[in-house]
Amino acid sequence: MSAQILDGKVLSQEIRASLKERVAVLREKGIVPRLDVLVAIQDPSSLAYVRMKRKWAEAAGMEGESFEVGEHTTQEELLSKIAELNANPKVHGVLIQHPLPKHLDEHAALMALGAEKDVDGITPQSLGRLVADLPGFRCATPLGITKIIDRYEIPVEGKRAVVIGRSVILGKPMALMLLQRNATVTIAHSRTQNLPDLCREADILVAAVGRAEMVKGDWIKPGAVVIDAGYNKVEGRQGDVGDVDFESAKEVAGWITPVPGGVGPMTVASLLNNCVDAAEATLA
Ligand code: NAP
Repeated sequence: MSAQILDGKVLSQEIRASLKERVAVLREKGIVPRLDVLVAIQDPSSLAYVRMKRKWAEAAGMEGESFEVGEHTTQEELLSKIAELNANPKVHGVLIQHPLPKHLDEHAALMALGAEKDVDGITPQSLGRLVADLPGFRCATPLGITKIIDRYEIPVEGKRAVVIGRSVILGKPMALMLLQRNATVTIAHSRTQNLPDLCREADILVAAVGRAEMVKGDWIKPGAVVIDAGYNKVEGRQGDVGDVDFESAKEVAGWITPVPGGVGPMTVASLLNNCVDAAEATLA
């Protein structure tokens, strides 16, 4: 048996094409969707992610500026920049790219960002809205995963879902989003016992761990939906590697996301989609 591929790359292209059309309509009305970014200057991976997000945003007709945060940036300067972006009506979305330099209080920065501009959906206010089932921006990566699930009409209601990982940006909101869709959800983490047995119970298995190829084919229930959010660098290997051992997993799973080309592109598409939603909301 070989699993069917959940193609995040193709789906993200469809979303980006629709964003281009929505942005064109907004531009005709004098609104240019703008996503500004705060990013640590000394973090090459963050800078690379931001460059990619910027490239996709520009291709959709969006604008934005990046503000580089360095070792000389003070907490006051950071908070004052966020206050300035909050107050600027031309800025529709603000991304605070994790991680900021260690001397800065990232939590305070997130608390300071207005929820209506939190298009990455990671501030405590946005997360609280998710917990409370209130409308608001949802975290880009789990949101991208739900878009994959919807596009491929994966049944969720009543299914047993296991999410490995409990980070604030990925595992926890993912579990809540699956719960909202009436899955029965278990969250696993580094202290979980008998993880392979637990995973074998899952109809839907989401790996959000950060450990290359940890989830093996024999951890997977035959026919299960396997979503791999992991992006890991492995010495001596080119490109990124997921948290799931794709080669063994695809022989058992019913559906599987590849890495690359699965969750990654959907994260960026969902972030931009949120930003265009924010710009459209200004028309209301
Ligand atoms: P994180 O904050 O480091 O969280 C990792 C989670 O995995 C933690 O909850 C940790 O448990 C758990 N964990 C670690 N080792 C484990 C083990 N051996 N068994 C079970 N659980 C274990 O990472 P993250 O930010 O959520 O990211 C996770 C992965 O997703 C990374 O590969 C990251 O690069 C990728 N990612 C991808 C995207 C995308 O756009 N596709 C976006 C964000 C992140 P504890 O809580 O007990 O420590």
